[in-house]
Amino acid sequence: MTENKPDNEVKAPVNFIHAIIEEDIRNGKHESRVHTRFPPEPNGYLHIGHAKSICLNFGTAAKYNGKCNLRFDDTNPTKEDVEYVDSIREDVHWLGFDWEEREFFASDYFEQIYQFAEKLIMKGMAYVCDLTAEQIAEQKGTPTRPGTESPYRNRSIEENLDLFRRMRKGEFTEGSKVLRAKIDMASPNMHMRDPIMYRIIFGHHHRTGDTWCIYPMYDFAHGQCDSIEGITHSICTLEFEVHRPLYDWFIKELEIFAPQQIEFARLNVTYTVMSKRKLLELVKSGYVSGWDDPRMPTIGGLRRRGYTPESIRNFSDIIGVAKRDNVIDVSLLEYCIREDLNKKALRKMGVINPVKLVITNYPEGQVEEMNAINNPEDPDSGTRKVPFSKELYIEREDFMEEPSSKFFRLAPGKEVRLKYAYIIKCESFIKDPITGDITEIHCTHDPETLSGRDQSNRKVKGTLHWVSAKHALEAEIRLYDRLFMSEDPEDVEEGVDYKTNLNPDSLKIMKGFVEPSIEGTKPLDKFQFERLGYFCTDSESTAGKLVFNRTVALKDSWAKINK
Ligand code: ATP
Ligand code: MG
Repeated sequence: MTENKPDNEVKAPVNFIHAIIEEDIRNGKHESRVHTRFPPEPNGYLHIGHAKSICLNFGTAAKYNGKCNLRFDDTNPTKEDVEYVDSIREDVHWLGFDWEEREFFASDYFEQIYQFAEKLIMKGMAYVCDLTAEQIAEQKGTPTRPGTESPYRNRSIEENLDLFRRMRKGEFTEGSKVLRAKIDMASPNMHMRDPIMYRIIFGHHHRTGDTWCIYPMYDFAHGQCDSIEGITHSICTLEFEVHRPLYDWFIKELEIFAPQQIEFARLNVTYTVMSKRKLLELVKSGYVSGWDDPRMPTIGGLRRRGYTPESIRNFSDIIGVAKRDNVIDVSLLEYCIREDLNKKALRKMGVINPVKLVITNYPEGQVEEMNAINNPEDPDSGTRKVPFSKELYIEREDFMEEPSSKFFRLAPGKEVRLKYAYIIKCESFIKDPITGDITEIHCTHDPETLSGRDQSNRKVKGTLHWVSAKHALEAEIRLYDRLFMSEDPEDVEEGVDYKTNLNPDSLKIMKGFVEPSIEGTKPLDKFQFERLGYFCTDSESTAGKLVFNRTVALKDSWAKINK
């Protein structure tokens, strides 16, 4: 169908990968099929960079009516774990993608990859080398100086085959032998200088157990897996551009199906580290509470923080696909979640840094149910009742003993409106004589000014949120700041640890109160606490102890509060 599609029907803007694919479809390459894959190594939890790759691979397949496989690249038995496999499945599904029955493991192909290696030996294109890893590295040369040929390079095909089979049988010790491709020790591309294809590892593999004691290198596995699965467009990050000639060489010499590798720039985000090794270190050394700590850039961390799959998919779309390395401002990610939650999140009132406010002329024991709007962005969301009584909590920052001229909230003698309720006037306040902290604010209300029925025509400049002291639920509220203080945490001088850039104030725990309609909330429920931001019920939250994470502040109101 696509061949007949007039150009003006193609949706713009098209990223450069989609442009290549559309060209391939037009030319009937691979029978105009589009088949991609997401190939994580199960050695850590997925992060926002992987999310970009997931959205790109699954999104591209969906856009062109193709397929996308989930393939675990589990060629290294020493670092991989089923714990990671499970979390990767969960995260990809949560993001909204489905690989149907196409879940594969590189280890499923170990026998086939082994046969590929024998084939190259038999073609005289691979040899068993007895040099140590250090010697091989030393003899590799430099980009400007050719490498040295291994003394084992010219072993006969029979000897190589025999040695390689005995490597498989476990006759040699780890590190004593490797299988290398026989390409060109003088190639300007270092990856073409007789790269290692197989090494001996007596490790237990999470799927194949002790069946194997030789394992293919990533470079001898990845392209072959793509080929076996009939992947048409093998999308990967830029660092593999220089590996491409090697992958193409293997595919050509093995005479197998040739996927097309297309590289794009990996996602970097300001104030964030993305290397799995560093994220693992933050977890293991207790700098964060775990892989799903809401400050982590992991998908699990973002989920617990209150991010939605839609917001992450939208972020991935907005940033597009780049050919050159770049860094995306983390505020763009925050923008995406604000946009999404603005439409979806129910509004609630909560006070995170409470001070008591007493309405002296309000009848003792009286309770009024005020009408509150659930979400002004969603006309179908309706209203709810919020109890109002003589004693309330308001935000400590909403009161100033000696207000500046720009302060339009509560101050002695000043008037404000309590949202959904009355206009009140501050008559006096009580101060702790020792600490100087305000402990109670005393106000009067004007009963004629009930919100919605106010005929008084009185204008006040500030509107405050509140909760009724008697009715509110106590809650722990966790406020997050960036995990790192510097925009590029890994940009440190030599000898300086990137962890010196950790922000000591990235988590602030508050004891606050929330309106009673929140009772019964479950982890991952999302709210907007009016004027304070978007919040999400934490996974540790229980009926007995409510815990909320602030996903992100409401930019505008927050800026005002900070003034
Ligand atoms: P490591 O940090 O161990 O090198 P990795 O980040 O490459 O690992 P993989 O599990 O190999 O992790 O990644 C799976 C896929 O996700 C790969 O195709 C990789 O290109 C892609 N990917 C990883 N990090 C990013 C990133 N920051 N931006 C875009 N894609 C990424
Ligand atoms: Mg990788």
